[in-house]
Amino acid sequence: EEHMLRSDKLRVIGELASGMAHEIRNPLTTVKGFLQISKANGYNIENWYGLIMDEIDRMSDLTGEFLQFSKPHSIDFRIYSLHECILKVIALMESEATRFGHQIHYKEALDPVPLWMDQDKITQLLLNIVKNACEAMEENGIVRMELSLAPKTATMIIQDNGPGIPSDQLEKIFHPFFTTKSNGTGLGLSICYKIVQDHQGTIEVESEPGKGTRFILTFPLAESETYIEKAAFS
Ligand code: ADP
Ligand code: MG
Repeated sequence: EEHMLRSDKLRVIGELASGMAHEIRNPLTTVKGFLQISKANGYNIENWYGLIMDEIDRMSDLTGEFLQFSKPHSIDFRIYSLHECILKVIALMESEATRFGHQIHYKEALDPVPLWMDQDKITQLLLNIVKNACEAMEENGIVRMELSLAPKTATMIIQDNGPGIPSDQLEKIFHPFFTTKSNGTGLGLSICYKIVQDHQGTIEVESEPGKGTRFILTFPLAESETYIEKAAFS
């Protein structure tokens, strides 16, 4: 079983590495092409500045996001409130959302929701999902976030009224580098998946084309035995 796990890990690392290499090579090839054409034809390079900058930004985004796959320098798991993370995400997203006329609604749980978490990672997780929702919706969309409690778990729903995800794409959205955006990295949701796994949680998606998309996250509550058992053996 040890062997299986190890080769599985190596396979995943191999896929990530080759995906990353491709993603970086494309913009590099483009930039080099611009420079070669300019040089060969004596073009004024200034005409290409915008395009070159865009490609460099893309590589920078990719490497920045890719770093999030690596282990945190110090694993910073503490008991922290999920509610506080949500407020932070709303504050971070507010200006971008209103720029497109989107609204973010949040229905909080009645009780505090303490989780054993890396606060920055959980914030990143929620941010990636809300950002995708805002990017997917036409103007004046609504993102609804809802936090609720069961005896041992916290459930977080993030729902939008955007275009939805075609059913043949649903299973691919968590794959690294899968994107339908011209300027997307396709890393956001694969990072989300990893963060949820690191927190012993689950992530599910439901989507109806034309109606919207709903992400459902669950996390074991800090004091629940399930969490302690799972964490001890992971
Ligand atoms: P990126 O945002 O860079 O494209 P992600 O991993 O964050 O990469 O998302 C992958 C893809 O999943 C997106 O390109 C989009 O096609 C789809 N997606 C994610 N969230 C939504 C959503 N709320 N509504 C519609 N499509 C979505
Ligand atoms: Mg994204």
